[in-house]
Amino acid sequence: MKQTATFIPTLRETPADADVKSHQLLLRAGFIRQNTSGVYSFLPLGKRVLQKVENVIREEMEAVNSVEVFLPALQQAELWQETGRWYSYGDELMRLTDRNNREFALGATHEEVITSLLRDEIKSYKKLPLNLFQIQSKFRDEKRPRFGLLRGREFLMKDAYSFHATKESLDDTYNDMMQAYTNIFTRLGLNFRAVIADSGAIGGKDNHEFMVLSEIGEDTIAYSDTSSYAANIEMAAVNMEYPKSDEAMKELEKVATPDQKTIVDVAAFLNTTPEQCIKTLVFKADEELVVVLSRGDHEINDVKVKHATGATIVELAEPEEVQQALGCEIGSLGPVKLPSTIKVYADQAVQSIVNGVTGANEDGFHFINVNPEKDFSVESYADLRFVQEGDPSPDGEGTIQFAKGIEVGHIFKLGTTYSEPMKATFLNDQGRAMPYIMGCYGIGVSRVMAAVAEQFQDDNGFIWPDAIAPYEVHILPVNMKDETQRELGEDLYKLLKSYRYEVLLDDRNERAGVKFTDADLIGLPVRITIGKKASEGILEVKYRRTGETFEWKREELLDHLQ
Ligand code: ATP
Ligand code: MG
Ligand code: MG
Ligand code: MG
Repeated sequence: MKQTATFIPTLRETPADADVKSHQLLLRAGFIRQNTSGVYSFLPLGKRVLQKVENVIREEMEAVNSVEVFLPALQQAELWQETGRWYSYGDELMRLTDRNNREFALGATHEEVITSLLRDEIKSYKKLPLNLFQIQSKFRDEKRPRFGLLRGREFLMKDAYSFHATKESLDDTYNDMMQAYTNIFTRLGLNFRAVIADSGAIGGKDNHEFMVLSEIGEDTIAYSDTSSYAANIEMAAVNMEYPKSDEAMKELEKVATPDQKTIVDVAAFLNTTPEQCIKTLVFKADEELVVVLSRGDHEINDVKVKHATGATIVELAEPEEVQQALGCEIGSLGPVKLPSTIKVYADQAVQSIVNGVTGANEDGFHFINVNPEKDFSVESYADLRFVQEGDPSPDGEGTIQFAKGIEVGHIFKLGTTYSEPMKATFLNDQGRAMPYIMGCYGIGVSRVMAAVAEQFQDDNGFIWPDAIAPYEVHILPVNMKDETQRELGEDLYKLLKSYRYEVLLDDRNERAGVKFTDADLIGLPVRITIGKKASEGILEVKYRRTGETFEWKREELLDHLQ
């Protein structure tokens, strides 16, 4: 591609609103532009990188017999109502209404769509297993879109769904996908770890997240310093000593007397620092005591509340809404009798409770020893404690350390979470109707691109790995007004293209300084500078990664290029 024909709007200054390195450089080097919060356009160079990431993913998916499809982003509400996620997914789901007042969602994920598709088609165990994937824009109205492509509201995802007649078959595919993901992230040159993870809003059982280790990661990984144990801190179950349960009881009783404030720091009786404290709001609602946990650094309006009756899920943005839904006024509680079992609900991130662990998406806000019904008795309340660095690793090897990670992929064993409510069944070998056993597997394609961008750069610009560089070779005739340089540039461009190299030719009439600065920013693996020695047929070849430079004759070039 010739630079005069394409569109690479580089910037000299670092954009003020870009707060991480990948975002800054993707903007400066002209790969992307922001349209509105969390929504981006991919410019020609960005699109090429994205496509290369996609292709690596495609190859590895196909290698494990996952087959590509393309499902609609526009999804009728009825599908989401069948599984109940229309009500439980919350504000992240983008909803809209058509001209006939029918409700729709923009796909945040595709379990409902694909399950509804297959239930009408696959009726026999003989047609299972089946593993389908797609690469498509997803829409999530993130509360805090940030870090550019890392957390967008419209972003590209590869999502795969597998369907099985038996658990063993799901296990096999899950292992295949684990291997495929490992191959993908290895090929992309990422420093990553697969960690045991919390299952969040999707539901289901076994699952692993693929985390790229990075300072700017929003997740915290707890890993053993001597073994392969690694878990999202939300899942890091560690045995430890608990604070005394009597003390906790007394504190809780105090909270429940009429004169007490409704918001209390639990920190004191959980033996933690105030920063780590979890605010507890106590309300009287429907004759039951409801304790709503929210993360310590969040305001009350950050709380998503489940009704004590369990019947309705109430997602509340404002304190007034909380009051209304719970039928009480914050700060003016009547007498509350402490029942033997209190119900504990938390915001969505805190809700999921697996293996006796519950946690939030943030460092330090995690409990262990919580029972799977999402309720626990007052007696065991005191058994909750945060996982800390230095705790023994659950596998008995080494101690727990923390690291920050960017979640680039997530694989789940869903089981029958979706097929059951959606009545998606097949006939097994005895002729009995059984719900499909399912798995789902996601990769944030655009997030992966940003994670690579974050890792592969220096002060001058990108250092794209060969696997996803937008072009392989950058040809820079220093002075386009010099006929010899210009012609040699054209000549090399044609030559390399004929040998199937992907080439970018800087045929702009710009000053040498501008060309070099832009070439550094763009960061292609090989740069060929055509300068004064062009008259002798000599080129300067520079490898971006190592900084090595060579002077080669035109004739030698093809032999030398690695
Ligand atoms: P996060 O914890 O970062 O919000 P998630 O757990 O909600 O991610 P999944 O539902 O597991 O995301 O989706 C699969 C993959 O899609 C994630 O592993 C991540 O790589 C990517 N992804 C999720 N949300 C976003 C987003 N807002 N912007 C870009 N990529 C995203
Ligand atoms: Mg999310
Ligand atoms: Mg997550
Ligand atoms: Mg996830």
